[in-house]
Amino acid sequence: MTDECIFCKIGRGELDADVVHKTDDVVAFRDIDPKAPVHVLVIPRRHIASVNDLGADDADLVGALYMAAQRVAAEEGVADSGYRLVMNVGDDGGQAVHHIHLHLLGGRALAWPPG
Ligand code: 5GP
Ligand code: ZN
Repeated sequence: MTDECIFCKIGRGELDADVVHKTDDVVAFRDIDPKAPVHVLVIPRRHIASVNDLGADDADLVGALYMAAQRVAAEEGVADSGYRLVMNVGDDGGQAVHHIHLHLLGGRALAWPPG
């Protein structure tokens, strides 16, 4: 499963991505099909399919995703203008890649509610 997972491959450096930030645990890279001027995905290197699959021991890792997003937002210049952090879950949530990822979207005013 994780052998075929594209985000596991990006996490291992086996698939090219425009990486903007990385730590031992997380990687942030630009979305290949950006939906906003700034569209970065933040992933754990470890395969977790979705929010539904998080365990209590993953709380620090989820925090690390948000701290990475905070840093990238500042570096991308959208911290003050604002941005959105989204994790899509499952079919109704619009999740296409089944490796948990935090979308960081910014650089324009984003509509609410989402479609
Ligand atoms: P989801 O719909 O699962 O929440 O979001 C998946 C996101 O991953 C989409 O915005 C899509 O454009 C992006 N994506 C899919 N494949 C790749 C890839 O190979 N490289 C990068 N950088 N982004 C990808
Ligand atoms: Zn994976």
